[in-house]
Amino acid sequence: MTPVLVIHGGAGTITRRKLTPRGEQQYRAALVAALRSGYAVLEAGGSSLDAVVAAVVVLEDSPLFNAGRGSVFNAAGEHELDAAVMDGATGKAGAVAAVRRVRNPVLAARAVMERTPNVLLAGAAADRFARESGLRIVRPSYFSTPERARALARARARAATSAADQHGTVGAVAVDRHGQLAAATSTGGYTNKTPGRIGDSPIIGAGTYADGVCAVSATGSGEHFMRAVLAHDVGARMRYLGETLAQAARRALARVVARGGDGGLIAVDRAGRVAMPFVSEGMYRGVARGGRFTVAIYRRP
Ligand code: ASP
Repeated sequence: MTPVLVIHGGAGTITRRKLTPRGEQQYRAALVAALRSGYAVLEAGGSSLDAVVAAVVVLEDSPLFNAGRGSVFNAAGEHELDAAVMDGATGKAGAVAAVRRVRNPVLAARAVMERTPNVLLAGAAADRFARESGLRIVRPSYFSTPERARALARARARAATSAADQHGTVGAVAVDRHGQLAAATSTGGYTNKTPGRIGDSPIIGAGTYADGVCAVSATGSGEHFMRAVLAHDVGARMRYLGETLAQAARRALARVVARGGDGGLIAVDRAGRVAMPFVSEGMYRGVARGGRFTVAIYRRP
């Protein structure tokens, strides 16, 4: 079958008015670069797991997105990063939470999955594990950008953050040539978040999930997603209710929204159908299928 890769770079108050044409172009180029990197894996016959990790690494390395370099600051003026990966083919998953030193948290998540009996490692021990696994370690300041520092200053001045400052996360889902699914998600969390706070992204079933039915990566209000076990709910609806991917994705998100949550998700099923529902004004997103790469930012094209 023709493999499919879907990515997101976060949902939020992303409007045409807020983004300059140059800014928009930079985001589009970064999304295309991530699609290219992940899709090259799929085209060469590689696994969906390798593809989602390759795409997320590109997004983590871009300072534009709230993951890896470019991550937001917490209330202590520090970065604490979360990431997860799940392989639908084997049902295995790995995640790291509140890491501060590993350059690519998604690679650390994968190492947890492949090299340990655990699913989730957190904090300094997770960074130590990443170092021992031979992953690249950076100074915490590597993740900082002037834009995120300004967002923290704005948040502190107002004692609250705007949705635009808060949001962001990156993720990828894919189905490979063999119909096997995988999902990966990586985030800096929220601007001005409480130190030690862990969001939905590294919680398997909440922000990230893949099985034999579909693969899901979410972005938005993490606490709501955790309480609703959002990512798992999509495939569950397909299995138990016989919903299509599009119905399941939309209704799972609607359930969260009804309880005050917001954001969006990307999903792909084993037939290569794609759903990308979101309730915010925009969501950075992209799809690669065959030779076609499509990226979008706003609600309306
Ligand atoms: N879901 C992420 C978190 O709660 C943030 C986001 O995607 O905007 O950490």
